[in-house]
Amino acid sequence: MSGKIQAVRGMNDVLPEEAHLWEFFEDTVREWLRVYGYRSLRTPILEKTDLFVRSIGAATDIVEKEMYTFTDELNGESLTLRPEATAACVRAVIEHNLLYAGPQRLWYWGPMFRHERPQKGRYRQFHQVGVEALGLPGPDIDAEHLVMCARLWRLLGLRGVTLEVNTLGSAEARARYRTRLVQYLERHEERLDADSKRRLRANPLRVLDSKNPALAELIAQAPKLADDLDERSMKAFDELQSLLREAGIDFSINARLVRGLDYYNGAVYEWVCDRLGAQNAVCAGGRYDGLIEQIGAKPAPACGFAMGIERLLVLIKEEVQVTARVPDVYLLRQGDRAERYGARVAELLRDAGLAVVLHCGGGSFKAQMKKADASGARFAVIVGDDEAGAEVVSVKPLREVGEQLRASVRDAVAIITNRASSDS
Ligand code: ATP
Ligand code: MG
Repeated sequence: MSGKIQAVRGMNDVLPEEAHLWEFFEDTVREWLRVYGYRSLRTPILEKTDLFVRSIGAATDIVEKEMYTFTDELNGESLTLRPEATAACVRAVIEHNLLYAGPQRLWYWGPMFRHERPQKGRYRQFHQVGVEALGLPGPDIDAEHLVMCARLWRLLGLRGVTLEVNTLGSAEARARYRTRLVQYLERHEERLDADSKRRLRANPLRVLDSKNPALAELIAQAPKLADDLDERSMKAFDELQSLLREAGIDFSINARLVRGLDYYNGAVYEWVCDRLGAQNAVCAGGRYDGLIEQIGAKPAPACGFAMGIERLLVLIKEEVQVTARVPDVYLLRQGDRAERYGARVAELLRDAGLAVVLHCGGGSFKAQMKKADASGARFAVIVGDDEAGAEVVSVKPLREVGEQLRASVRDAVAIITNRASSDS
């Protein structure tokens, strides 16, 4: 066999030129989670298929057609690459009895896998950062999550990310509503598209989520979930709204927001941005008070959200000036003795906290200087046998006019750090 092997369709490489955007995002997120007191939980990328079927729901897009599932040849077990991480977090929390110690505020980060049609903003491997709070009934914690998100958009420098909220009520309220909705949709079945007809049987609330403009009117006139809501959910939803107003967070109520996963109840929300086109949701979440019991443990309230990193990075790239990281120093060395001495100097500079690219592979000083220029480094540190003999270095600023100076390693550090810090 010959020919180039390419990446799997819908799964992307992040090249070094893009890496600084990811790093900016990751650094911001880590600091953001720290100030809210969330701790990280890392779960495997593979889980037993049954975990997702039981939690996400058999009649959802994800479980019906988007999961990467295979049989482990060794024991016949069905395994699935995680399409999302809430189920895995809950599984881990139960398995390790974490709720025993009290409510848990957790976060995770990593790749998720869904067999979708690849398009702008929709990939087969994509990345999420998610937050889960287990053991807290809300709505105070739901408000915390939304305030958190709003802070993250500010920290990232993003504008135009808006919040839509809804409440799905209790499981009983939803069941009552489901009956009414199915009756209504059945009366108008001839107007439904194929997708909605399928959903009508399997997961009727999802019909409300249809993006087909031909169905807009039918959906607008459908019975409202709000009319079936239970007292408790209504009160919690009112309270959440007043907490959001007090926190100065703008939102709109979207009665058609139902979320694609079965495990949601109570408050649900999405953060959207118009500039993203059809795939406009950057973050989604809500309460899932029934999930812990559904996975086989003592019932406990829970809520959380997940954000799609690729979609956020599109916005960051457009709106935020993120400078690529460059080394402080490119170290040039030529000559036997100088090569050894130069390697030692590089380590000393790194001891002082400087980012140093040590030239490898030989070549003339002229050729090395070209590489130093291309590296973006702020300074060249040059070591020939001459410098090696005197145990000094030559320092040359690369991004501003300035003379090449001879200095001890210690003075070189002073020169570089002074200028490096007054630069930034
Ligand atoms: P959508 O309606 O776009 O399919 P979803 O309801 O399936 O979204 P969630 O499961 O709520 O999405 O995931 C949370 C976030 O993860 C989404 O808001 C989105 O930003 C991101 N996301 C989901 N699926 C993908 C994908 N295939 N590619 C890239 N990002 C995704
Ligand atoms: Mg989806």
